[in-house]
Amino acid sequence: MTDTTTDTTTRDWRERQADDLMASYAPALRLLVRGEGCWVWDDEGTAYLDFLGGIAVNSLGHAHPVVVAAASSQAATLVHVSNYFTTPSQLELAERLKRITGAGEGGRVYFGNSGAEANEAAFKLARRNGGRTRILALKNAFHGRTMGALALTGKPALQQAFEPMVPGVEHLDSTVEALEVAMRDDVAALIVEPIKGETGVVPLPEGYLAAARRLTERHGALLIVDEIQTGVGRTGAWFDYQHAGIVPDAVTIAKGIAGGVPLSALVTFGRASSLFQRGDHGSTFGGNPFSTTVANAVLEEIETRDLLGNAARRGPQIRDAVLGMGSSLVTEVRGRGLLLGIGVVEGAAQPIADAALERGLIVNAINSTSIRIAPPLIVGDAEIAEFADRFGAALAAC
Ligand code: PLP
Repeated sequence: MTDTTTDTTTRDWRERQADDLMASYAPALRLLVRGEGCWVWDDEGTAYLDFLGGIAVNSLGHAHPVVVAAASSQAATLVHVSNYFTTPSQLELAERLKRITGAGEGGRVYFGNSGAEANEAAFKLARRNGGRTRILALKNAFHGRTMGALALTGKPALQQAFEPMVPGVEHLDSTVEALEVAMRDDVAALIVEPIKGETGVVPLPEGYLAAARRLTERHGALLIVDEIQTGVGRTGAWFDYQHAGIVPDAVTIAKGIAGGVPLSALVTFGRASSLFQRGDHGSTFGGNPFSTTVANAVLEEIETRDLLGNAARRGPQIRDAVLGMGSSLVTEVRGRGLLLGIGVVEGAAQPIADAALERGLIVNAINSTSIRIAPPLIVGDAEIAEFADRFGAALAAC
């Protein structure tokens, strides 16, 4: 008798997903088998223009020669050692992150493997801020799915099934007035997403970060900026807080840092750098030579090819292309650089994303009124023209 549980040749991939993978994700849209540049291909040979980039992860697109070379040579040299040791690539990446975040000499870096883990580390760091326990976060912000990160996340619908939450977190409206009311000398930290990516790419109000910096400083609270989605060049600066001209106490980084290889970092500034003591935190895989080598290669490429400049220029180009379509379904385009949210009329986002996929374009209906796009930072004229053709056709079909 055939053992159908291991028969990978005759069972459809949809059936295999349903039978073998946890039901925590929606059924997969396609079975993808390879990628190159801004394109991916499915098992039937259909090409898709990837304007989601693995949700802001594939900074250099797919199969970029720089990533391939760094990953191949490091895999053949040293993939992993424990954190009883350090490696040249780990030290180089820490120095690089201190430079590009602006943390400078007084900065320190902790490495993890995912965005949620970086925020867990930031949460624990906040608990070390003089024994204070109140942590302020924003309604509708997303910080991850592990229990600490979930407690920081301002989305009750994601939390309810998993209560009780880690205590001490208060969620505020994203206004300076709400922050003024909540901020006292017993606040350990304020954590913010400068652009709420999972909420439809919604930037903080103009002036919010500057006010948050002023108020946290006055009351001895840490200002933690979650740049997991916005960071590493995506908004046209290394980090979105740099557009606001502020310096935080800590920043969390993941997604695009290593072009798809799992890696995250918590970078601290000034006094926040001395809050963790030996033994306070740790991770087996965090900052291993494989992921940090690839991250160094990705960040070097972003810098030498001026992909920050490219992100800053291409964002408005895409925005103009979308608004120029004159579709009555589109209400606005939000965001900065290559993290954009296309606002659409209620209920239109999913049908548009489905129509786009049918036309070989990957975009993301993040909620009923928002389509998120986060293409690789290497995107150029040719890809934007393809995007405009395919997205325009999708809008016309809806
Ligand atoms: N913070 C932000 C702003 C995010 O966008 C995400 C993921 O979407 C996370 C944290 C969690 O990152 P991860 O899924 O790598 O745990």
